[in-house]
Parts: sequence; structure tokens; C-alpha cells
Amino acid sequence: MDYDVLILGGGIIGCAVAYEISKYNLNIAVIEKDYDIADDVALINTAMIYDGVESEDTLTARLERMGNKMMDTITAKFNVPFKRCGSLIIAQTDEEAAIIEKTYNRAIDRGTKDVLILEPKYIYEMEPNLNVHIEKGLYSKNTGVICPFDLALAYGEVAFDNGVKFRLEEEVIDIQPISKGFRVVTNKNKFTCKMVINTTPSENYSIVNEKKLEVNNNGGILKYILLDNNEKQKFSHALFMFNAKGERIYTLPTIEGDTVAAVSTKDNVNYNEVVDRISKITNGVDNMDVKMFLDWPFFDQPIVIDDSGIDDGLIQIKGKHYGQITMTPAIANIVCESVVSKMQCNLKKDFNDKRRESYKFREMSDEERKSIISVDEKYGKIICACEKVTEGEIVDAIRRPLGARTVEGVKRRTGAAFGNCQGAHCLNKIVSILARETNKKMTEIVKDSKNSNIVLYRIKEFDSM
Ligand SMILES: Cc1cc2nc3c(=O)[nH]c(=O)nc-3n(C[C@H](O)[C@H](O)[C@H](O)COP(=O)(O)OP(=O)(O)OC[C@H]3O[C@@H](n4cnc5c(N)ncnc54)[C@H](O)[C@@H]3O)c2cc1C
Repeated sequence: MDYDVLILGGGIIGCAVAYEISKYNLNIAVIEKDYDIADDVALINTAMIYDGVESEDTLTARLERMGNKMMDTITAKFNVPFKRCGSLIIAQTDEEAAIIEKTYNRAIDRGTKDVLILEPKYIYEMEPNLNVHIEKGLYSKNTGVICPFDLALAYGEVAFDNGVKFRLEEEVIDIQPISKGFRVVTNKNKFTCKMVINTTPSENYSIVNEKKLEVNNNGGILKYILLDNNEKQKFSHALFMFNAKGERIYTLPTIEGDTVAAVSTKDNVNYNEVVDRISKITNGVDNMDVKMFLDWPFFDQPIVIDDSGIDDGLIQIKGKHYGQITMTPAIANIVCESVVSKMQCNLKKDFNDKRRESYKFREMSDEERKSIISVDEKYGKIICACEKVTEGEIVDAIRRPLGARTVEGVKRRTGAAFGNCQGAHCLNKIVSILARETNKKMTEIVKDSKNSNIVLYRIKEFDSM
């Protein structure tokens, strides 16, 4: 067999599973069709770590709570920014107050102890910037905020350092059963393996055809804006409003100090309506503060870890859910237990549970800056002035395990080009560093996928670029 375990899909779930099972004596590979891992997480995410209180489905709530509880340990170990900000569900009408009562009773019935119903005066004390009418609030202390791509990357990097092979830019076409295992057919290769963990269940592989999962999304659309750091609209908790139609409006303080404000709805609403609805919490949105406006399907399907094929060696993670980042550590642990019991494998003696160090110039003291520049002078050269990202950090992002090979890869790993100028001053420099470090021409460097080249042609007047 080529591999003991093949993980299909290098999203956050695939990377987390790879990390957990890389603790064991197994020959493992992750197959990912994109140029980078966890592309989707990087592109769209509201970065909230839920605590299960908001979830109507009890099993989903349990997975969220399990994952939520594991976050402190996992983020501290990997040096991933994570903060428990707590959340307030706010009711402005009697109807919404009834929803809060129901949510509170449901949480208590599930054994959740850390929820409280609060009168408005306490809520105004907790959030002095809240300038809207409140009937009642539900406080829950365990909700948090995270950098999801950093978490996915950390899982991937440590798995990579412990021998997991990442086969990027390779698309799985089919999974075929063979004696004592599977043949996984990609657009480039055919691999045999004893076990398959499929994190891409909506794909149409022949082995799963009978049980093909239709991704019927009834969750509507999530429309959200990213608001620049503005003292008047700064809240320290995640704030939610639920209405009887099942719509949610919420805001969340991001790790970087901005605010995500979102509306999940089945209505076809435009930007102005989104801002209107968000204003119910924020009491107005200044358009000048809006850095980004995005919409994306809002999924609330229950997540199923389907190990009905475990005797043959097949595990599938099915469903799409708005809280899947939260559930990731729990899902990875559950899958790992099934793999270990099926493969009868042992823990590796030389497993290295440490992520390689990295340095963030903008977060360092002057003393620390001096010291790192004395070791590598590239840390003394600022490439992105808005976000204070140095050449040293960009080179490290490229040379690290599972290093960046695209402009987006560099941006996500370092934060470069995310400032007010949105890369106007640094994108060309990033392309040039990528070309130098990967030994390519600048015209070969892509944004994030095939044919997304940034520099299309050489200007013929110059001999070199
Ligand atoms: C708008 C939005 C906001 C969200 N906000 C939050 C939040 O605040 N908190 C939270 O907890 N969760 C949140 N989520 C959920 C979370 O981001 C996703 O559910 C999670 O990223 C899913 O991870 P995954 O690994 O299961 O799937 P994916 O990220 O989809 O990974 C699957 C991977 O498989 C690859 N792939 C697919 N087909 C193939 C193939 N044939 N061959 C090889 N590779 C293949 C894909 O390229 C992809 O990288 C949000 C989701 C959305 C859409």
C-alpha cells in the first residue's frame, strides 16, 4: 500500500485530523486540490468560537461545546490568537425576550451552567456603547474569537513536521474499493491505502454514490461587513439578536480590533438593508468605516461523523455548519479514536508537538526588534508599511513547512496587504520576494490559483525585473 491513511481535503478539518493521527505510527497523506490549505477558511469566516447555546440541534451544540472547551489548550500550544470575549443575546421586543427565555431553558436542560439572564441595566454597564432599547439579555461567558486560518495552518504545519505528506494542487476524482483498502484516483496519480478519511463528501465519488450527500442549503445567506476600529462602535462582547423568523444579527470584536457585523437571512436584502438591520445593535454604521462587504451561503446542517464504513476503512465527515471551526478539535479527536481502533497503531516516540517559532514585527518591543534584526537583517526591512510586515516575516512564511507559494498565501500568513492601502504599496514587492524565494519568474507568480498571475508580461524596455 502507498499509504496507511489518505485524508481527502486540506480544509481545517482535514488538517486537524492529519495533526491528530500524525501522533501515531502511520504513513499519512492529505490530498488538496487548491494551491494552499484551508483556502475557504481564509476567504470567508466570521471567526467566532461558539459555545453551543445558540444551536437548536442538541448534537451540534454538544460538538460545539466540546470544541469550545478544547480551544484554550490547542491555541496556547500552537500560539494561535484566541480570546474568550463572551456573548450577549439581546432582546428588544417581548417576542425576542420569549426567544431568550427559551434559549436559556434549553441551555440549562442541556446541563450548561454558565448562562445568565440579565436585566438591561447590567447589559448597559457591560457594554457602555450600546445605545439601543433592550428588554432583556442572555449572557454566556464562553463564546470566543479566533484567527481560523492560523489555527488551520498550525494544525497543518505540525502534521507536516511529523511526516504527513501534503499533496497540493491534486484533485481526487474517485475512490475505488480494493482488497483490504482503497484506490484513490486523482488527476495526477493513483494511490492505494488502507483507510480513507473523506472531508469532501459532496464530491461525486463512485464509492459514496449510493449515499451521496446532497448539500441542500436551507440556511439562507450570511451577509456581513467588516468595520474598521471605531471607538463609538466598539463592543467587547459578541452581540446577537435572534428573531422569530430564525434570522440572526450579530457583531463580534475581531482579534485585530475591527468588528465583524453580520446578518443571516433568507430574504434577498441589499447592502443598505444589511446596514439597517445591523444598526439595530450598533445604533448606526458609518459607511466610511466599512472595510468589506461579503455574502456567502449560511449553512446550518448537522455535522455527521459517518463511520458506518469503518470495517472497510472509510470515515466521512458530512454536513456543513456555520460553527464548524468551533467543532474542529472535537471532530478531529473523534475521528482519531476511530482510526486508532481500526489500524491498531501505536503512538510515535518521536512525535514533536511544537509549532516552529515565528516573529511578528508589529507585536515586538524595540529590544526584541533589535535582537532579531541583528540575527537577520531582513527583519529590519518593512515591506507592508500599513501592517508593519517585514521582509524577514515574508521570507519565513515562504520557507516554513507548508510555506506560502502564492500572494494570498503570503498575505494570510503575515497580514501584509490587509491595511488601509490594501496592498497598493507592497503587492509588487511581495511578488518579487516570492519569485526570488521560489526561483520563479515574476510572471509565474499567482494570486491564489491557476491562471491568476499578477504580473502578466515583462515590460520590454527593461532587461530585468
Ligand atoms: C460565511 C461563513 C462564515 C463562517 N464563520 C464561522 C465562524 O464564525 N465560526 C465557526 O466555528 N465556523 C464558521 N464557519 C464554518 C467554517 O468556516 C467551515 O465550515 C469550515 O471551514 C469547513 O471546513 P472543512 O475542512 O470541513 O471544509 P472545507 O474548508 O470546504 O475543506 C474541504 C477542502 O477539500 C478540498 N477539496 C474539495 N474537493 C476536493 C477534491 N475532489 N480533491 C481534493 N481536494 C478537494 C477543498 O479545496 C477544501 O480545501 C463559517 C462558514 C462560512 C461559510
